[in-house]
Amino acid sequence: MKQITESVYVETGYRMPNVGCILTEQGAVLVDSPFLPAEAKDWRSKVDRLTDKGVACIVNTDWHFDHILGNCFLSEKVIVHRRNWRGFLYYQDRANIINDIKMFFLEEVSQWEKELEAVLVPLPQVTFSDELDLRFREQTIQLKLVGGHTPGTIWIYYPEEKVLFTGDNIENKRHPAMGGAKFDAWLTLLREAEEMDVDYIVPGHGEIGDKSLATNYRKYFEDMQECLREFKSQGMDKETTSEKIADYLINSYVYPEAEVAGEFLRKVLKTGAGRMFDQTE
Ligand SMILES: [Zn+2]
Repeated sequence: MKQITESVYVETGYRMPNVGCILTEQGAVLVDSPFLPAEAKDWRSKVDRLTDKGVACIVNTDWHFDHILGNCFLSEKVIVHRRNWRGFLYYQDRANIINDIKMFFLEEVSQWEKELEAVLVPLPQVTFSDELDLRFREQTIQLKLVGGHTPGTIWIYYPEEKVLFTGDNIENKRHPAMGGAKFDAWLTLLREAEEMDVDYIVPGHGEIGDKSLATNYRKYFEDMQECLREFKSQGMDKETTSEKIADYLINSYVYPEAEVAGEFLRKVLKTGAGRMFDQTE
């Protein structure tokens, strides 16, 4: 666990996503949860060492399993954007949980199945539609719908200490997860992040950085768009264009630390390129 500012702590060492803790006078405001029960319990004990006021609430940046499954070990007070509600309903069915984990961890999932039986997905207590400020006497934590990675992805901005939690709209040294992407929203939010008063960006996955992380992803998407326009102008169809772009991205951006690799990565990037094809004039 790293302390990055006076009140903000981040753990980047769990499987998949980063989790954050903002200390307030009413307890810890947590950002996302580790998805494995043992790691969620470990996170809980670390948070308990930071404050004797307990967990004020959890804010999830989207509904994907890797960001929410540990909620049940941390707090029932869950806040999400209203567009994520259906995702929480979807995970009421345990088969969906296991299937989604399998996509990323085909080998490990059988050894986790027993442990995962303890997982429940409490439905969020608060949903919001655009922006929500969590107010404490001296602190304000700003939640804002930005879309991009999924239609309901939010970011969490803590202006007093210039920290921005981006969820999977930014990952560090990993390809973007574009399976639900809306690229116009994604580029808009990245440009906005580049202009914000921010010293630290806590990405959804990968190490903490500064605003250069937003610039990296903006350039990545602009690079993709440039390739796509060129292939389109040559009259190439969606299938061929998506394949060529996936190959181009794999060769141009090499991220050995990423959780997603090999054929699965290629498939994921192809899906993303196909979405961009449909969304580009
Ligand atoms: Zn994620």
